[in-house]
Amino acid sequence: MLEIRNLHARIASTGTEIIRGLNLTVKAGEVAAIMGPNGSGKSTLSYVLAGRDDYEVTEGDILYNGHSVLEMDPAERAAAGIFLAFQYPMEIPGVATMEFLKVALNAQRKARGEEPLKVPDFLKRVKEAAASLEMDIAMLKRPLNVGFSGGEKKRAEILQMKLLAPSLCVLDETDSGLDIDALKIVADGVNALRAPDRAFLVITHYQRLLEHIVPDTVHVLYRGQVIKSGDKTLAHELEANGYAGIIEEAA
Ligand code: ADP
Ligand code: MG
Repeated sequence: MLEIRNLHARIASTGTEIIRGLNLTVKAGEVAAIMGPNGSGKSTLSYVLAGRDDYEVTEGDILYNGHSVLEMDPAERAAAGIFLAFQYPMEIPGVATMEFLKVALNAQRKARGEEPLKVPDFLKRVKEAAASLEMDIAMLKRPLNVGFSGGEKKRAEILQMKLLAPSLCVLDETDSGLDIDALKIVADGVNALRAPDRAFLVITHYQRLLEHIVPDTVHVLYRGQVIKSGDKTLAHELEANGYAGIIEEAA
């Protein structure tokens, strides 16, 4: 589903290269964990996948279902089924969460040649998804993320994911800001979406989340490259020994 080949990407404004020859393959149905110390380029990778325009790809390619996404803008990538749950979800004053969800969902439906959802149908879906995440529906009348706690913001991201039902789900540090109960609810929400035609990139720098979302593969990102890949035991090894050994080995 996803094949990243020798990807090099830099920050457009400064020219600083952050992703430096990254290779990664994720199959349909797979949950891939991306781990790595702070500053290794995990969020940058997620932005480059989503097509954020502050970043420039200078070399390599990102293939999604066999086709390069580099020429696609973020909306086209979203309509094609790529979803990013942000590490730091943005506050959007003046836009009610519910309205945001409706516009996002219908924009994707339109891009796929589908009719907009009828309001009762939309409301039913939102209510079901919110209930499964134990979110109070009253919260959805408030402007998106404005005044939400860290945990509420993360739940709102997962709510969006549930509604949009993407094919490639990129979750950037979704565990940060969640207490243990919220973590379980969010992890259950992710696990319920696991499917043979859907893949996840679960970015985290703690093993904790991976107790609840058990990955098929684990990849260690360091200085913009994948320096080691393995199965879920690699996450346990990192938890026990830290990154130093793997970094030294790679060097
Ligand atoms: P991670 O998510 O793994 O902690 P990031 O992708 O956020 O890492 O950052 C990777 C590196 O790129 C860091 O050294 C960070 O300071 C730098 N960086 C990210 N965005 C910018 C930016 N807009 N301007 C300058 N440096 C940046
Ligand atoms: Mg990050």
